[in-house]
Amino acid sequence: MRFVYVDNAATTPMSEKAKQALFDAIDIFGNPSSMHSAGVAAFRSLDSSRQRIAKCLGCEPRELYFTSGGSESDNWAIKGAAELMSRMGKNHIISTKIEHHAVLHTLQYLEKRGYEVTYLDVSSDGYVTAEQVRDAITDKTGLVTVMYANNEIGTIQPVAEIGAVCREKGVLFHTDAVQAVGHLPIDVKKENIDMLSLAAHKFHGPKGFGALYIRKGIVLPNLIEGGAQERGLRAGTENVLLAASAAAALEDALSNLDEKNRRIAEMRDKLIDNILKIERTRLNGGRSPRLPGNVSICFEGIEGESLLLSLDLKGICASSGSACTSGSLDPSHVLLALGLPHEIAHGSLRISLSDQNTMEDVDYILSVLPEIVNRLRDMSPVWEKIKQEEQQQP
Ligand SMILES: *Cc1c(COP(=O)(O)O)cnc(C)c1O
Repeated sequence: MRFVYVDNAATTPMSEKAKQALFDAIDIFGNPSSMHSAGVAAFRSLDSSRQRIAKCLGCEPRELYFTSGGSESDNWAIKGAAELMSRMGKNHIISTKIEHHAVLHTLQYLEKRGYEVTYLDVSSDGYVTAEQVRDAITDKTGLVTVMYANNEIGTIQPVAEIGAVCREKGVLFHTDAVQAVGHLPIDVKKENIDMLSLAAHKFHGPKGFGALYIRKGIVLPNLIEGGAQERGLRAGTENVLLAASAAAALEDALSNLDEKNRRIAEMRDKLIDNILKIERTRLNGGRSPRLPGNVSICFEGIEGESLLLSLDLKGICASSGSACTSGSLDPSHVLLALGLPHEIAHGSLRISLSDQNTMEDVDYILSVLPEIVNRLRDMSPVWEKIKQEEQQQP
């Protein structure tokens, strides 16, 4: 049986370049803070990784702080900014209804501590506008946090425009770019981004490694007290090994990006066009601008979970939405924010492609999916009801 991994929004397999960099760095064991030659070797490796990742984002190496991943970076940026703004008598934060839980739950934590959060609505195709952000800013607003690209529905937000509004209004702007880094060209300076979160395992790097870009001049409170690592803000001996692997992964992800994305988008569009031929399906999120690898579809009359299990039996690893909501029976907050009713939001399927996928993978998915949908609908009381109602209508 074929094995087709199309859950790249949850995590990606490491690229050959990322693995090689890991092997190459495995004997660099020194502590980068040590003065002796073993320490200097480790420091040099870490420093070079920081320079290479910074170059990929258009920032200076000293503006890049290494963390354990996307969630940590999001928590640090938002809680840190909240503390900074409260020193200036501000307590209002603007975000959206479709953020990742690492952002949403952090905001809820702050709400319990007296902060006020405005969660902007998105359009029915999953976008916010810079005008919405502008209209929501008050003299109490200290932070805007809007994700770069959505992990469930793939919509890409107008980050540069939002950044320009925030810069004009003197409000800090953070973006969770975990789905965008390594997939889209990003320049934090041109896009007026003050803070940006990334995670290496979403661009074929290792898990457990990420970064927070903090524009120079912003003095975020320390995340971890201790040694002087990460400019004294996040203590703890650095992960030299994963940094080397992440740097190689990011450079590799960004090489020939346009060509790669054209090929991935071609696979995406073939999937979308053909899946939508199945009756009573809809695409979640607008077609453009959309992540090249994201396909998110709702099927009326079936449960996303049963669909996933059936696909898994055929060797296909996909997702019902976000890896973080699986295990809970609540429909995704992202799909609900699009205005989908609960019963439809339950029947969602997310296929997320990477450049390791092929057209043969796409054809294989398309050869088994319609059959599975038909079979599940045949067993579904909800589908029966939909069909009866169809017949009653003239
Ligand atoms: C995966 C993801 C995160 C969490 O990153 P971790 O490295 O798993 O902590 C945060 N935000 C978005 C948009 C993501 O896709």
